[in-house]
Amino acid sequence: MKTLQEWKTLSESLTLRGEAYINGCFQPSLSGETFPCVNPSTEQLLINVASCDQGDVDLAVANAREVFRSGIWSEMAPKARKRVLLRLADLLEKHQDEFALLDTLDMGKSISEMVNIDVPDTIDCFRWTAESVDKVYGEIAPTGHDTLALISREPVGVVAAITPWNYPLMMATWKLAPALAAGNSVILKPSEKSPLSALRLAELATEAGLPDGVLNVLPGFGHTAGKALALHRDVNVLAFTGSSRVAGMLMEYAGQSNMKRVWLEAGGKSPSLIFDDCEDIKKAAATAAAAIFSNQGEVCIACSRVYVQKSIKERFLAELIEAASQYQPADPLDPETRMGPVVDAVQLATVERYISSALEEGGLCVLGGLPKHVPGQGYFVQPTIIDQAHNGMTFVKEEIFGPVLAVCEFETEEEAIALANDSVYGLGASVWTANLSRAHRVSRKLEAGMVWVNTWGEGDSTVPFGGVKASGNGRDKSLHSLEKYTELKTVWIRL
Ligand code: NAD
Repeated sequence: MKTLQEWKTLSESLTLRGEAYINGCFQPSLSGETFPCVNPSTEQLLINVASCDQGDVDLAVANAREVFRSGIWSEMAPKARKRVLLRLADLLEKHQDEFALLDTLDMGKSISEMVNIDVPDTIDCFRWTAESVDKVYGEIAPTGHDTLALISREPVGVVAAITPWNYPLMMATWKLAPALAAGNSVILKPSEKSPLSALRLAELATEAGLPDGVLNVLPGFGHTAGKALALHRDVNVLAFTGSSRVAGMLMEYAGQSNMKRVWLEAGGKSPSLIFDDCEDIKKAAATAAAAIFSNQGEVCIACSRVYVQKSIKERFLAELIEAASQYQPADPLDPETRMGPVVDAVQLATVERYISSALEEGGLCVLGGLPKHVPGQGYFVQPTIIDQAHNGMTFVKEEIFGPVLAVCEFETEEEAIALANDSVYGLGASVWTANLSRAHRVSRKLEAGMVWVNTWGEGDSTVPFGGVKASGNGRDKSLHSLEKYTELKTVWIRL
């Protein structure tokens, strides 16, 4: 791992690109409008980025449709598409330091997380998905002797991917890899808070041999570029990661336009359940701290609610406070840093508001507290733990998306399950017990797309990622992700 000084020197030599990427080249937005892209740890301008809107969306969609119809990518043999995506993965590996820096500078995530998690996961996702496309077969239906019914999967056409800022490169890749592998044309609208890595990725895709127009990146705001994509009548699929609020709006836009398919990876308020029969309380506490303080709590699967069994509550809380104290916010370019700044002033104000409400509603702050922002010195927040919390409190019900943890207690297994499920969300859950039967029993009852037992957040390209209830539908990663970007076709032949 490079030193702080080496990362700083490297960041000074980076070439940032802020134009839109359409049809294989960078170009300003048609309106000429831009928006500032700011480093949240210094509050300094990185670059002004093209602010795309309806005109750019119309242009990119027309382009993407034309290239889809040409068949240059959509009809390319799967193993040839695989080779292009494998080359892209190789190029990402070659430029891994650059990609690590782009997201760290853009949204404040620690460089060590980029190097150890986001960049390797991105490369692996492209490789694994690319490798899978020439191994997925169609079906022959068991019809009568005088007919032949073929069931195949075809690319859907033009995919619009709208992504958030918390894992900019990784979230974009979870959409791009399967959508491109399946033969679609894609228009990616990254978050206005973190557009830089997506733009560089598109440039590398061209270098890897992806035909022009197959991948277009339109930076811009949600209410302009995002809404125009979501309402566009020539977009077939909307693949979204972001808040549940916007997810609901996208379903309405689809209904108002062409009933495009809408896949949603949305918000969460995931619980950790710590039972008194867990094998290692210290490890459970350290993992509970990582589950809310890594990436500053700006993690969709963050376990922001801890339910701990009454008999071990005090011991667990002491271990938790000690583990959490190691997440002191600092310069994200320092490889020792475990927590950087939150993404911007808006996010800082949100976190502040929720901590205030927790205190007003009777919570007991046992670590951290209200942020003390020094203008010009970054949006840093201390890891914050609120004890004596319960499900009736606003900050326990709503997603904060910051480093704030609610600690609640329970007495019985049934109560723990009921409390965990008492949420509009259903993304992840972490269960700590050494009792195998309890682990299975509780996992089955939890209303969540993903359950981790005696761990949190683990997974790789082989397993689906996504949630239930207001946390969304559909799944990223694994072979199931290809289902989102392909359409079933039946051909019935009378012999
Ligand atoms: P957000 O919903 O504010 O924005 C997400 C994207 O939607 C951005 O690109 C934004 O520009 C765009 N957008 C906003 N308004 C729009 C509109 N009217 N029409 C079209 N597009 C619009 O979310 P965020 O603040 O960027 O990200 C944080 C959220 O993402 C959290 O709720 C988090 O839980 C969620 N998230 C979920 C997952 C998952 O896999 N379930 C993963 C990461 C993040």
